[in-house]
Amino acid sequence: MGAQVRRAQVLIVSLGGTIASTSTPSVGGVVPQLSALDLVAAVPALDDVANVDAVSFRQVPSGDLDFADLIALAQLIETNVTSGVDGVVVTQGTDTIEETSFALDVLLDVAVPVVVTGAMRNPTLASPDGPGNLLAAVRVAAAATARGLGCLVVMNDEVHAARFVRKTHSSSLATFQSPSAGPLGWVSEERVRIVLRCAPLAGIPVTKSDVVAPVALVTCALGDDGRTLGGLLDLGYRGVVIDAFGGGHVPSAMVRAIEELASTMPVVLCSRTGGGEVLSHTYGFSGSESDLLSRGVTSGGALDGRKARVALCLALAASRGPRDAMAAFARVRDSLSRD
Ligand code: ASP
Repeated sequence: MGAQVRRAQVLIVSLGGTIASTSTPSVGGVVPQLSALDLVAAVPALDDVANVDAVSFRQVPSGDLDFADLIALAQLIETNVTSGVDGVVVTQGTDTIEETSFALDVLLDVAVPVVVTGAMRNPTLASPDGPGNLLAAVRVAAAATARGLGCLVVMNDEVHAARFVRKTHSSSLATFQSPSAGPLGWVSEERVRIVLRCAPLAGIPVTKSDVVAPVALVTCALGDDGRTLGGLLDLGYRGVVIDAFGGGHVPSAMVRAIEELASTMPVVLCSRTGGGEVLSHTYGFSGSESDLLSRGVTSGGALDGRKARVALCLALAASRGPRDAMAAFARVRDSLSRD
């Protein structure tokens, strides 16, 4: 008789979102109200994959999640990993998955798969995708091959690294894409296929008592003169991410405001294109990447603006001052795309 294979223990933590949303007579639309146990009960096939425990942690649209929620969630996950779970699935709204999954990636220091999933079609519609996504996510969370990849996003039977994934469409089931790197793998029948592996991401240890300071994300647009930038310090912002044109460019009319800002707080330069990385020495015009970098702005590397903002928020929270924070930010940035 062959040795018995131990069934994986997977923790499912629900935060709300479309996957948990159904209609109520009093509100004209669906709202999050299904518990983690409800989500599990809708997918009997989970029984064939793992022993699951289900915890309802929040019940909100994902735009209402904040850093305090994510820091508390990271602690819950670490406690459960210490107690021996083999993998974790987080269910939530898809609107902010690209940010929350990356925040968990930066906050957590665990080898087991931590998989975030959700749904584009709520349970009241024909062919809701939540049950299939949950099943695929649990398969990945239970898979030894998915260990050591950091936080993952599983949607539409694809496995994406949190550091690269973006929501690219308002309603398509194929909305989650990783424009710079592609998916790490996929789920086919009952198998988890990981075909690419990414390097360990540098972490930032943030505790519940750390205060997450506000960081502004400013998207550059045609004809912008940067007049909003001057007010950011007085509004209480402690850092700024500029989502610039192309390889990291802004209109020359914005340069002065950006330079002044960079003398008061960390300013990070990203590309609003959502793919590739910020250039460092190709263009020399006023407002070019090399011009801005020479004026005290920090490159966001291959982080897109939203992920750079997450990293900067957490770096500022965990650090004694802006210099330490920028060192922590740079470690995360550089671990994403090593030379
Ligand atoms: N439309 C969103 C979703 O896909 C709502 C949310 O993010 O909570 O779940």
